[in-house]
Amino acid sequence: MEKVCPLCGKNFSPSHGNRKYCSAECSEKAHLNQACANALRRYYLKKRQKKNPKKPKRRYEKPSFNENIRKADECGLSYGKYMALVFMGKSYEEILTMQGGNAS
Ligand SMILES: [Zn+2]
Repeated sequence: MEKVCPLCGKNFSPSHGNRKYCSAECSEKAHLNQACANALRRYYLKKRQKKNPKKPKRRYEKPSFNENIRKADECGLSYGKYMALVFMGKSYEEILTMQGGNAS
């Protein structure tokens, strides 16, 4: 069964079924090309990273969790109860009023 060498385009009959290239020379060249391509890719990736340095990830606290724990506490409710009311469409102020908190 004839195969075509992907590097030089020659037809060849592989002595081993899994041979991809017509000769050791082509195989070596192909590997070099691959290594070269990888090196180039790395080079360009590095270059691009230098151009656009990654913005430092800004750590911001998730507003909801801590915030709601605090608000629940201020309403004198457990976090779960507070969140249940929030999901029912109540605002913090409403809940606070409902709970007879010290909202003026
Ligand atoms: Zn070849």
